[in-house]
Amino acid sequence: MLILNCPYCGVDAEETELAAGGEAHLKRFGPGSSDGDFHDYLFMRENPRGVHFERWRHVNGCGKWFHAARCTQSLEVFGTYSAQVTEPPKEIREAISAKRPGWTWREFE
Ligand SMILES: [Zn+2]
Repeated sequence: MLILNCPYCGVDAEETELAAGGEAHLKRFGPGSSDGDFHDYLFMRENPRGVHFERWRHVNGCGKWFHAARCTQSLEVFGTYSAQVTEPPKEIREAISAKRPGWTWREFE
């Protein structure tokens, strides 16, 4: 079972206490953007076999949204962090780089 630590209330929450919210760190496009940008925002998602950044909500706890970095293949969790940031914190990046040498970062906006 997937267990994620909620960075707001500090609880190690089991998957049944959480709600998945899809990919994290999406750049949003609104009025005035091109059809292509809006299409990509709505439909194009990464689906990696490996490190992935996700949005989760502690729905049966404090109710807040947070981000998690984990491996979709091994379910290893590299860390959780506030949803109020535009890219993963340095300590999360270092934890991933230490365990997945050679893994490359995409551009975060
Ligand atoms: Zn919480």
